[in-house]
Amino acid sequence: MIEALALNMAGIPMDIVSWKKAITLWSMGRAIIIAEYEDRFVRSPRFTMRIPSIIQCVDMRVMPRNFTNILPFNRKNIYARDQGRCVYCGVKVTLASFTFDHVIPRSLGGDTTWENVVTACTTCNNRKGNKRWKTGELHMLQAPYAPKLTKAAPRNLVNKLSFKTPHQSWSDYIYWRVAIGH
Ligand SMILES: [Zn+2]
Repeated sequence: MIEALALNMAGIPMDIVSWKKAITLWSMGRAIIIAEYEDRFVRSPRFTMRIPSIIQCVDMRVMPRNFTNILPFNRKNIYARDQGRCVYCGVKVTLASFTFDHVIPRSLGGDTTWENVVTACTTCNNRKGNKRWKTGELHMLQAPYAPKLTKAAPRNLVNKLSFKTPHQSWSDYIYWRVAIGH
C-alpha cells in the first residue's frame, strides 16, 4: 500500500496514513502536500495528480503524547540489530528462516526481551538446545542489548516504521536514528 507521512503543524511526524486518506485530507483543505511520489499517480476522468508522500495537517496543533527512546521489540528488529547473522557462528540467515533464540531458555526462566533474545541459525540453535549458554561452550559474537534511538520519537510512529521501508522523502522529517552498539 502506498502511504504518506503525516506531519502536524509544527512539522513533527505524527502518523503514517494511506494515500487515500492523504488525498482526502488534502481535498478537504485539512492538509497541504509537502512532497510527492514521482512515479505514483492517481487518475480520475477530470485530473491526474501525483500521490503525496508527505502531508502536513494544517488543523493539527497537537503534539504526540507518547515518546520513546527504545526500538520496539520484534522479530524484524532483532534481525536488524544482529545484522542478519547468527550471533554464535556468524553465518548469514534470512529474516524468514532465522531462529529466535533465547540465550537463557524460557524453560530456565529466560525472558523474551532485547537482552535475552538473539538471532541464531538452526544448526547453532540445535547445538545449544535447551541448555543455558556457558562461556566457552558457544561463543557469542555480540552480547544482546536493547537498541536505543538517538532522539526520543513518537511511539506509534516508531512502531509503524519498524514494519515499513520509509520513502526517501521522509528522511528529512524522521529526525531520529537507531544508535548502533550499546
Ligand atoms: Zn550459527
